[in-house]
Amino acid sequence: MKNWEKNIREITPYVPGEQPDFPDMIKLNTNENPYPPAPGVTRMLKELQADRLSLYPNPEAKLLVNELSVQYGIEPERIFVGVGSDDVLGMIFLTCFCSEKPVLFPDITYSFYDVWAKLFRVPYRTMPLDEEFRIHKEDYYTENGGVIIANPNAPTSIGEGLDFIEDILEHNQDSVVVVDEAYVDFGGESALSLLEKYENLLVVQTFSKSRSMAGMRIGFAFGSKRLISAIYAVRNSYNSYTMNYPSIMCGAEALKDRAYFEECTGRVIATRERVKKELKALGFSFPDSKTNFLFATHESVPAAELFNMLREKHIFVRYFKMPRIDNYLRITIGTDAQMNRLIEVLKEYLDGCRR
Ligand SMILES: *Cc1c(COP(=O)(O)O)cnc(C)c1O
Repeated sequence: MKNWEKNIREITPYVPGEQPDFPDMIKLNTNENPYPPAPGVTRMLKELQADRLSLYPNPEAKLLVNELSVQYGIEPERIFVGVGSDDVLGMIFLTCFCSEKPVLFPDITYSFYDVWAKLFRVPYRTMPLDEEFRIHKEDYYTENGGVIIANPNAPTSIGEGLDFIEDILEHNQDSVVVVDEAYVDFGGESALSLLEKYENLLVVQTFSKSRSMAGMRIGFAFGSKRLISAIYAVRNSYNSYTMNYPSIMCGAEALKDRAYFEECTGRVIATRERVKKELKALGFSFPDSKTNFLFATHESVPAAELFNMLREKHIFVRYFKMPRIDNYLRITIGTDAQMNRLIEVLKEYLDGCRR
């Protein structure tokens, strides 16, 4: 090793799901929405003037923040926006988890949390989910430097109710509690109504799943004015212009179309409920999903084998080679046609196994 290399940071990064590019593929591996963004977004993209790109965007992304304020009934001063909720969550780790005490989160959850903790040198402790992949809320009654819970949780798909989240808040008034609601629009219960009561609560959501805009990179957080201004202060100490002009304009446009949003999330939910029945009939079991994916295990065929078989047929699902979950597949809910093809391929393969 050369001397200068000793000054180089070594870190194991988060590994996102692969982004394959085959014309015939069925992509069910990164929980994207199978439907296009709201029609207003397409219109906006056509109207945008390249000339405007010579100017910096509004640093507070005012237009987008104001629309979020209108749609969710929360004051603009209580809203933070960032480049996907990954950016929002990263900024929250940097701003709110500055204690010497460990930040607590489940052992099986969004695998970015421990990566940020290591990157920002935040001490942390993971709390094991129970045998049914449920969060044990009493684990979070202990002293800590912060709590972060994905609700519904990923990759387990399980959503806990409002009472559950409030219980964790009740027991954690001395640290910031973050609820990552990336999947809440697919049937979860949001903690938004608890914001009035708990000024140490942050609720984080994203445009990537329920609003079909993963490619635009928009995430947002709601919290008390005190917390939101602290996060902006940190963000502005790093990069003042994170939200680009097209994202601000298109994001605001997407929010205006509530009917389209409800139609798309409703369709995903209806497909999910149908697919549950069909996968059950094929010998799969899974927790009761409140998300746009199923976390499924098969009674006799190993998940790794199914993952590779599907992959060869250009059907991509997610497989985590990790303790406790290495016999599960995380399958994103696609269109009805995509799910029909998935079921057809699985059925054919499993019939072959039985013979
Ligand atoms: C997808 C996801 C995110 C981040 O998504 P962005 O595209 O960065 O908004 C955050 N948390 C969870 C639990 C997710 O599944």
